[in-house]
Amino acid sequence: MSAYEDTKRNIEKAERVLYKTYNRFPVIFDHGNGVFLYDTEGNEYLDFGAGIAVCGLGYNDPEYTAALETQAARLLHVSNLFYNQPAIDAGEKLLAASQMDRVFFTNSGTEAIEGALKIAKRYAYNRDGRGGHEIIAMEHSFHGRSLGALSVTGNDHYRDPFAPLLPGIRFARFNDLDSVKALVNENTCAVIMETIQGEGGIYPAAEEFLKGVRALCDEHDMLLILDEIQCGMGRSGDMFAWQGYGVKPDVMTVAKALGNGVPIGAFLASGRAAAAMGPGDHGTTYGGNPFVCAAADKVLEIFRTREITAHVRKVGAYLWTSLEKFAADHNCVTDHRGRGLIQGLEFNCPVAPIVSRALLENQLVLISAGANVIRFVPPLVITEEDVDWMIEKLEKSL
Ligand SMILES: *Cc1c(COP(=O)(O)O)cnc(C)c1O
Repeated sequence: MSAYEDTKRNIEKAERVLYKTYNRFPVIFDHGNGVFLYDTEGNEYLDFGAGIAVCGLGYNDPEYTAALETQAARLLHVSNLFYNQPAIDAGEKLLAASQMDRVFFTNSGTEAIEGALKIAKRYAYNRDGRGGHEIIAMEHSFHGRSLGALSVTGNDHYRDPFAPLLPGIRFARFNDLDSVKALVNENTCAVIMETIQGEGGIYPAAEEFLKGVRALCDEHDMLLILDEIQCGMGRSGDMFAWQGYGVKPDVMTVAKALGNGVPIGAFLASGRAAAAMGPGDHGTTYGGNPFVCAAADKVLEIFRTREITAHVRKVGAYLWTSLEKFAADHNCVTDHRGRGLIQGLEFNCPVAPIVSRALLENQLVLISAGANVIRFVPPLVITEEDVDWMIEKLEKSL
């Protein structure tokens, strides 16, 4: 059987076997190297999606892979009833990189959000001795698919079929400080937002907005929760996007690029939020096991030794200039937003056909963010030549 027929048969099988919550592209990726992916028919693809902003170091990085192999042979899992060295090492590095005070490792971004929301509720409960606290979230936000994370996700299409969700969540308009102020009452315990909205279409927080919300939180003893799951881990050009604003959250969530493909997330707390939860308040069986933490530990080490954020700033600026020129040349492009290596181009039409042609005809992996935005979240190790090649492929895909 030819590779083509074999792939076709396996895709048909997938459609019978896997729960159908995704409309997938008809490609089976087999392996990756650097910023390239290879399908089962041997085609090479330039990757500007990084598995949805996950594979920051690209594919098959020798140093990273060796760390996984070593840890796999040593110890995968022990539970959180015991200490494990990789979690201690990864935790220490994550705190150093973020200037936060405590970290809890999770298995995903969604679970990091759950933990962050629990800190906010626990913090207010400790203070007031009662429940009933409210949380302010943002319209067009995305925080994950579990019922708690969905409750703070500002997208009715995702939420409505699963109502009722958590009570006491109110939605403000992103980058509109007055709309946040209008929702604060004596029950509000936290404000949650992405520092740069990802799924919602690549909208960075305005500096005055983020500073204003920080001040509002201080004034009313509310916690500021910043979701850095997509925009964190160097993608903005700072290790965490808020570091570029001079604003520090009380609670922060990370995931995606933290493990470079191994499923790990974390929530981190600082200052008054750091001791809100105690023994018994939260737990996880897998979370922070030695295997995933060895991966995160190596990722954090590589970020430092290879100065990944400096590289992101340099190539991100090049991507910015290239996309500005692209936008100027094509009047179907209506906006260009973002920072570092998280950028979006908004079109005056749905982008699905462009994304599909890029993949299937020009071997370029792109992802969208909403109907009209192409999102550029490549591996952080891409070069300027990769950007040039991407633009060439994008032109052909229009
Ligand atoms: C992806 C994402 C999540 C959810 O993370 P999962 O690992 O898919 O659970 C939450 N918040 C943001 C900003 C994200 O981009």
